[in-house]
Amino acid sequence: MAPWNAATPGDAIADIDTPALILDLDAFERNLERMAQAVKGRNVRLRPHAKSHKCPEIALRQIALGAVGICCQKVSEAAVFVDAGVRDILITNEIVGAAKIRHLMELAAKAAIGVLVDHPSQVHELARAALQADTPLDVYIEVDVGAHRCGVRPGEDAVHLADLISASPPLRFAGLHCYHGSAQHLRQPQDRAAAIAGAAALSLMTKQDIEARGIAVDIVTGAGTGSFIHERDSGVYNELQPGSYVFMDRDYGDNQRGEGDVAFEHALFVLTTVMSGPAAERAVVDAGLKASSVDSGMPTVWQRPDLHYLKASDKHGVLKTDAGAALALGEKLMLVPGHCDPTVNLYDTLICVRDGKVEALWPVAARGAVL
Ligand code: PLP
Ligand code: MN
Repeated sequence: MAPWNAATPGDAIADIDTPALILDLDAFERNLERMAQAVKGRNVRLRPHAKSHKCPEIALRQIALGAVGICCQKVSEAAVFVDAGVRDILITNEIVGAAKIRHLMELAAKAAIGVLVDHPSQVHELARAALQADTPLDVYIEVDVGAHRCGVRPGEDAVHLADLISASPPLRFAGLHCYHGSAQHLRQPQDRAAAIAGAAALSLMTKQDIEARGIAVDIVTGAGTGSFIHERDSGVYNELQPGSYVFMDRDYGDNQRGEGDVAFEHALFVLTTVMSGPAAERAVVDAGLKASSVDSGMPTVWQRPDLHYLKASDKHGVLKTDAGAALALGEKLMLVPGHCDPTVNLYDTLICVRDGKVEALWPVAARGAVL
C-alpha cells in the first residue's frame, strides 16, 4: 500500500485527513520575526531550543534570522540537525555512557558541539574520549539556579569543575548553563521576573567566583519562552535558549503577559474531526492523547469558546458542548495543544498552511530521537 499522507501541497485545509499537525505559516513567521527583533542590538545571542520542533526546516530559518545555532536535548537529536547542515549545537544535557559519548565525538568532528557537566566523572569521561578522538569539545557547567533538576550548586562546586575542565584539553571550558525551567510557566509576570532575578544573581556570583581563579567565563546561557526577556535584560546572561515561542501552546497561552513580554501567537494546531455525538452535551473527536499531548493539561478548541475538551483517551477526545453549540458530525476543529514539544513528537510531518491551503510538508526529522 502506498504511504497514506494526511495532505498534499495544494490541498485545501478542509480536505486534510485527521488527526494532523498543522503549522500556520503566517503566525509562525511572525513569531520568528518577533523573537529576532526582541534580541536585536541587546548584546545577547539567540540559540533556540530545537527539541520543541525537531524540524531542520525550522532550525535553518531560525539561523537565517540571526540565531548562532541551536540547542538539542539528545545526541541522536543533534545528529539529525548536523546531517541537515546545522554547524553549531549545544546539547543541553549531561552525556553519560560509552555509546553516547562515541556518537557525540563523531558529531564533534563535523560541527561545533557543546555539552553540559555537573560532576567530575563526566569531565573525566569526556576528556578521555576527546583526547582519543583528538577533537575539541565545548563544555559548560550546569548550575542549579532554582529549577532543582540537574546542575551543581552555585559557587564552590562550580569552581572545582571549572578548574578541572580547564586542566583537561582538548576540552574547552565554554561557560555556565543556568536554565531556570520552573520559572517558565509561573502565571504572573512579576513571579517570573523575581525567579529570574534570583537565577541571575546566583549565575553572576558563580561566574565571578570562577573568574577570580583566572578562568574566563565566555558564555552564560539559559532562558525559555516564558522568561527570556528577563535573562536578556539581566546583564548576566549572554545567550538565550527559548524553544516554544515558534509554536506557542495552551500552557504558554495561560501565562499572564506583563510589560515587555512579547506577544507570540498560537501557530501549532491539531486538526481533528468530530466522529461521534452520542449525547446532547457531548461530542467526540478523533484526537486523543496520541494526537495531542496532555501532560500539561487539555487542549483548547481554537476560536470555539462554546466547546470544551474534557478528557483524552488514546484515540478519542471528549468535548463538552455548551447549550446551543452547533456541531456536525464530520466537522473539523483545530485544537491548541496543551504542550507543544511532546505533541510535535507524535507526528512525522508538519503540515504547513497559508491562505486556506497546504503550502508545504516539513518532516519532523528528529521525531523519536530519544538516545
Ligand atoms: N533550555 C532548556 C535546557 C530546556 O530544557 C528548555 C525546555 O524545557 C528550553 C531551553 C526551552 O524552553 P521553552 O520551550 O519553554 O521555551
Ligand atoms: Mn516544553
